[in-house]
Amino acid sequence: MLRGMMMDRPLLVSSVIDFAAETYPNVEIVSQTVEGGLHRYGYAAARERIGRLANALIGLGIKPGDRVATLAWNGYRHFELYYAVAGIGAVCHTINPRLFPEQIAYIANHAEDTALFFDLTFLPLLEKIAPALKTTRTYVLMTDSAHMPAESAMQGLYCYEDLLADNSPGLTWPEFDEHSACALCYTSGTTGEPKGVLYSNRSMLLHTFFLVATRPDLFAHNRTILPVVPLFHANAWSLPYVAPLAGCPFILPGAKLDGPTLYDLMESEGVEAGWGVPTVWLGLLEEFKKRGRKPRKLAQILSGGSAVPQAMIDVLTRDYGIEVTHGWGMTEMSPVGTLTLFRPEERGRPAMGRAALSVKQGRRMFGVDLKVIDDKGNRAPPDGTTSGELFVRGAAVVSGYFNNPDASTRQIDEEGWFGTGDVAKITPDRWLVIVDRTKDLVKSGGEWISSIDVENAALACKGIANCAVIGVPHPKWNERPLLVVVRAPGANPSKADILDVLGSKIAKWQLPDDVVFVDALPMTATGKISKKDLRAKFAAHKLPD
Ligand code: AMP
Repeated sequence: MLRGMMMDRPLLVSSVIDFAAETYPNVEIVSQTVEGGLHRYGYAAARERIGRLANALIGLGIKPGDRVATLAWNGYRHFELYYAVAGIGAVCHTINPRLFPEQIAYIANHAEDTALFFDLTFLPLLEKIAPALKTTRTYVLMTDSAHMPAESAMQGLYCYEDLLADNSPGLTWPEFDEHSACALCYTSGTTGEPKGVLYSNRSMLLHTFFLVATRPDLFAHNRTILPVVPLFHANAWSLPYVAPLAGCPFILPGAKLDGPTLYDLMESEGVEAGWGVPTVWLGLLEEFKKRGRKPRKLAQILSGGSAVPQAMIDVLTRDYGIEVTHGWGMTEMSPVGTLTLFRPEERGRPAMGRAALSVKQGRRMFGVDLKVIDDKGNRAPPDGTTSGELFVRGAAVVSGYFNNPDASTRQIDEEGWFGTGDVAKITPDRWLVIVDRTKDLVKSGGEWISSIDVENAALACKGIANCAVIGVPHPKWNERPLLVVVRAPGANPSKADILDVLGSKIAKWQLPDDVVFVDALPMTATGKISKKDLRAKFAAHKLPD
């Protein structure tokens, strides 16, 4: 081998915020704060505070490799922690506050967090669970002294703003191995115990570059971006790194993510692109309808985390001129795997023609390899019909779970690919289609029914606000589909109406055996419909003959 003769400089997360501070000093991060009101500052001011925070962390005894946990909404202090913690070689462990308290304690103990930073919202929660956190010795309330509690069950609580005021901003980032961990995120744990995905500085930066390189248009011209996806869900899909790198104004919506609140923030801040899961967009769409228009500058929605219904893509495209980009990925993939990516010949199609392609989960992002393994263990051809388990490989894909060798061996195959647990097929022109989560497929006789396909067809019926399909036990067929529907406000479609419309869209054997109506669907901590809860609820449901 003839070795190349270029410098061996480490790829470190800290370099991103330094670049942004120098290049885009006045481009703003705007946050809806927990205390009330908006906070705004530029990337240079953010870097200054990140330096203070990093010095404070060092003063608190945080060492390289230590896990520093957060329980926080999307706000500027959470953003600062991403960089200050990683910058000193420690690991920013974002915990999902929507989990049950016992799960939060399990995760913090499993990760062996040494410090925990949390928003005011979570003070009552922490007062309750802190005694159960075995390794956490430092607690910091992410607020100013005016909002510190006069009395608290928690001893020695630090105030975030006091820590910053007491420390100087001056700091040259230490240099270390780019393979050092920078962040940790536990999967939502819908199957078994939550598992930790430990990202490295190198994987995080490469993932950021891959995303920008694959769809540069998503970040072009310093576009104003609003991540509804939380900073505690899979690194907010990389946006806290991409936005400063691309010089994008970054709008952080805080705790309230309902349609009217999001709409107002998007309108007042001139948001051009919103990123989040489909349920959030369903809420926002209701608001568009009420006000008769979209927020004035909103032009792009990136939706992922669960399948994006065709009906939603169609309405956003046709009625509001919004371009929908569909993404598929996993916490284990940093998280983006595929996203809507048009070839030049497709880009020329009319908007609705492109929208029809966007219901597929997209083409692979650069840096991600895909393979589909059929029931017999063979690699499935990209013929658009053969489906099987989807495996992935790449420089930003997990090679194993943190302190969990059993789970790691279960999910990595002999060739080193990661088994996603998703059933998928790939079309000849390389679109990835996710058929279902393996455990969500309805196994009817020898056939599989994709719950995603039936939901997609049902959401196109009038009067349905949201729906889910689950398999329920059937004496002859093993399982048959049950459609669980939330009616749209003021609408009253009957079971017969819905089955009638569905009959014209999907094959007879895929038609749900029954339709039930509910006021709301159970959601997971990351805003996806919880089929596990639905299955439990309807486990004894008796299907009509
Ligand atoms: P998480 O790690 O919590 O983001 O969950 C990852 C899982 O969400 C994937 O394995 C898929 O089952 C599901 N998922 C994510 N994006 C999509 C999508 N666009 N379509 C269908 N399922 C998706």
